[in-house]
Amino acid sequence: MNSKLQPGPTPDIVIIGSGIGGSTIAAGLAGSGVEIVILEAGDHLADRPENRDPRAIFQKGFFRPKENWYDEAGKPFNPGNYYNVGGNSKFYGAVLTRYRAEDFEEMQHLEGVSPAWPFAYEELEPWYSKAEALFQVRGTLGEDPTEPHHSAPYDFPAVPDEAPIAALRKRLKAVGVHPASLPLGVDIDTWLAHGKTPWDAHPNSFNGKMDAETTALAAALAHENVRLETKARVTRLETTPDGKTITTVHYEEDGSSLVIRPKLVILSAGAVQSAVLLLRSANDANPAGIANRSDQVGRNFMNHNLSAVIGFDPRFKNDSVYQKTFGFNDFYLSDGNGGAPLGNVQLLGRISGPVLKSDLKLVPEWALDRFCAHTVDFLAMSEDVPKPESRVRIDGDKIILEWIRSNWPAHQKLVAQIKTVLRAAGFPLVLSKAFDRKTPSHQCGTIRMGTDPATAPLDVYCRAFDHPNLFVVDAAFLPTSAAVNPALTIAAQALRVADHIVSKDLAQ
Ligand SMILES: Cc1cc2nc3c(=O)[nH]c(=O)nc-3n(C[C@H](O)[C@H](O)[C@H](O)COP(=O)(O)OP(=O)(O)OC[C@H]3O[C@@H](n4cnc5c(N)ncnc54)[C@H](O)[C@@H]3O)c2cc1C
Repeated sequence: MNSKLQPGPTPDIVIIGSGIGGSTIAAGLAGSGVEIVILEAGDHLADRPENRDPRAIFQKGFFRPKENWYDEAGKPFNPGNYYNVGGNSKFYGAVLTRYRAEDFEEMQHLEGVSPAWPFAYEELEPWYSKAEALFQVRGTLGEDPTEPHHSAPYDFPAVPDEAPIAALRKRLKAVGVHPASLPLGVDIDTWLAHGKTPWDAHPNSFNGKMDAETTALAAALAHENVRLETKARVTRLETTPDGKTITTVHYEEDGSSLVIRPKLVILSAGAVQSAVLLLRSANDANPAGIANRSDQVGRNFMNHNLSAVIGFDPRFKNDSVYQKTFGFNDFYLSDGNGGAPLGNVQLLGRISGPVLKSDLKLVPEWALDRFCAHTVDFLAMSEDVPKPESRVRIDGDKIILEWIRSNWPAHQKLVAQIKTVLRAAGFPLVLSKAFDRKTPSHQCGTIRMGTDPATAPLDVYCRAFDHPNLFVVDAAFLPTSAAVNPALTIAAQALRVADHIVSKDLAQ
């Protein structure tokens, strides 16, 4: 630790984790002058050749954590969950989209009900605009019929379609769908100046992607009252004997066990790791774990039903580099015929031969490259509705992820609809592949917010009902997954919670 990083023994606030939730709440709190220490398990991601090398990323798993979680049958798997400054957002596709207004209301799905949020879309709307400004989102309003009301326009125009993608947009419009530019946190010129690659799944080292480190954390660290400690993994929270107040945060750094005693603890270690930390911190007064009177910590794990859908047309020449500039929501609020909602469709980062090779190991890369020269790649995303039996739990040192998918029939219908659309648009061959638990990238719901302490660990400002000096602001708080990318909603709520903490002087 250098002297700048020496925390006081009792800072006002400790934030655990520097991902979207942790960094954004730090940005929201920084101006208040309270002393904030951010404890981050990982280190800064270096600027290195592997950041732009698809073989390193997809074939060799260069950045994957050296960690296993276990499924319900006890089978280990290596999860794509990243531990570094900025968290998973260093690798994300930077689609920074709002939940639709209808996502805040109860929604009947083909299989299950997505419950209403404890507040309506309009409550979060002002912080969505603030989050879009903080993450410098590029976008265009008015193209997507499902887009909710925005009180402020985007500060930057949408990232432009490359020529084949502009042609594809026209082909899709001609068959009746409504392509809309994706809201993206990418300065495309800066990104491409560092290498002609897509940004989705490619780590960012201050190369043009607006992730938690390059935007929110940078804004927070511009204030002298905010300090970041890297390679500082929190292991346990300790409470007063009555179990109500968090007194001590235990963490490990450089092989040493250390403690810090803040007035307020803001947990944001990611939906799986935050639940694990609360469960591991069980004590006599909180035998089921911290904040777990409702027995909901770790439960309601959701992760979206996701598939890659690849269309092939021998006459279509796709020489795009990044590809990921539009999506469509024609099947978002209904299946297109008044039936239950199916989900969102968006372009993926360009899939090339080296990327496909990680799945098709026996096919030569040159053959895959020739195939990919005529393909276009979409991501199909459907809502996974909350179920208590879908859960994260611990078994000694092991993390068990019992993900019980829901609403799978809706996802199958969505994939079938995309295939119909693409065939109509002139792609005779359309292939799809579903993502499994090794890709927990949209994990959420494990420490949900609500209005009733019997059914939710957190109140509507993400404060633990059981512990007035504990907040949880990562994806764990989300009561529903909707069927859009989660990061902007996590950021908006983190800014809302920050304003609440400041307005109520909760860190004093
Ligand atoms: C490849 C990929 C693509 C994605 N694309 C998109 C997209 O386009 N749009 C979108 O909205 N979302 C996307 N996501 C999801 C998005 O990145 C996550 O929803 C978001 O980062 C979650 O933020 P978080 O704050 O909940 O947690 P995280 O970002 O996971 O941050 C948690 C932080 O806590 C740290 N931590 C963990 N345990 C401890 C501990 N014990 N002590 C201290 N620190 C700890 C971690 O190192 C990490 O920095 C993508 C994710 C991936 C992996």
